[in-house]
Amino acid sequence: MSDAKQPSKGTQSVWAGEDEKDFWGRATQTPVVHSVSFGYTDVDDWLDVALTRQPGHIYGRNTNPTVAVFEEKLRILEGAEAATSFSTGMAAISNTLFTLLAPGDRVVSVKDTYGGTNKIFTEFLPHFHVEVALCDTTDHEAIEAEIAQGCTVLYLESPTNPTLKVMDLERLARAGHAVGAVVVVDNTFATPINANPLALGADLVLHSATKFLGGHADALGGIVCGSKALIDRIYHYREITGATLDPMAAYLLLRGMKTLHLRIRQQNESALRIAQFLAAHPFISGVFYPGLETHEGHAIARKQMRGYGGVLSFTLQGDFDTVRAFLPRLKLAHLAANLGAVETVAGPPATTSHVECTLEEREAMGIPETLIRYSVGIEDTDDLIADLQQALDATAAEHHG
Ligand SMILES: *Cc1c(COP(=O)(O)O)cnc(C)c1O
Repeated sequence: MSDAKQPSKGTQSVWAGEDEKDFWGRATQTPVVHSVSFGYTDVDDWLDVALTRQPGHIYGRNTNPTVAVFEEKLRILEGAEAATSFSTGMAAISNTLFTLLAPGDRVVSVKDTYGGTNKIFTEFLPHFHVEVALCDTTDHEAIEAEIAQGCTVLYLESPTNPTLKVMDLERLARAGHAVGAVVVVDNTFATPINANPLALGADLVLHSATKFLGGHADALGGIVCGSKALIDRIYHYREITGATLDPMAAYLLLRGMKTLHLRIRQQNESALRIAQFLAAHPFISGVFYPGLETHEGHAIARKQMRGYGGVLSFTLQGDFDTVRAFLPRLKLAHLAANLGAVETVAGPPATTSHVECTLEEREAMGIPETLIRYSVGIEDTDDLIADLQQALDATAAEHHG
């Protein structure tokens, strides 16, 4: 899969893209270039940069040196020809879809995409007369049947948010290519440490960099990687419509990414142990984690992922009142909407991944009301398990008492 001559993902997390020493006045760390524009003393040089005959920067909405380093690091980590960045993950997703689609086109995707993505499919694309077919996420035959009817874009996400469903990316990419579709994969949950969808046949891989890539919940960002031909088109849409990544955010994301492999290694390990602990607890009615052998997508996950990721979800016995009682008892978790941070973060889908959706919409997507999404941080695994144990035991005692 990966070129034997390439450094490993861990080494790339630290070094990739950060080798332009001369350009930065030999600073070893990437500086934040806050300048909105870049001045020239020679009009012909300026023209050469404007016409991309020479590398360089002209105006911050188009390109910026700090942002370019972030794009280069992701490009290398995803094994892509090119990459372009955005102000948020949703900007990456919407700009990609609006670049590729025109009225009369058809998209095939699944019901379990990220809540914001689902809104683009159900609200905004139909408004522009793009037809969207949303399939049951794990029903590969049904997805293939929809693809066979023809589509311009096949849009996948694996593992999904918040129920951690897994799709066979190689199999579905093959089906998409058979009808000439551009195959797009949201790789936010896996990260390039755990999976590289381009190597499995996807044409474009995108991320909410806000999550695991940055890892510290202090910067928003998005990125899409793929062939130069596709990325040039998406970049052009973004440079005109303007959802540009801020240089300070790019710096924070780059700084976070130096430890990407260490964080993901710890989170993979903790999430699996926590999932096993939860599966054995009597007050838990269900655990969703692709690393569990009982998970319906485990065999596919084992085939296409190097680790199972830092997010899991579980359902409590009882109703939403149990969720209300349980969550505030967690001492080692922010109750918040983000995920992928160094701190553990927990919350129900109604206020996190699917805050944009109604109760009826969530039920239609098969998201139970007592589901809790738990994004494992880098704390000590035993401390996290002890924290869950005390919160579960206290809530169970109250529930039964
Ligand atoms: C958070 C998230 C997004 C959206 O990213 P933002 O940076 O919040 O815009 C997209 N996809 C997935 C899987 C996410 O978790």
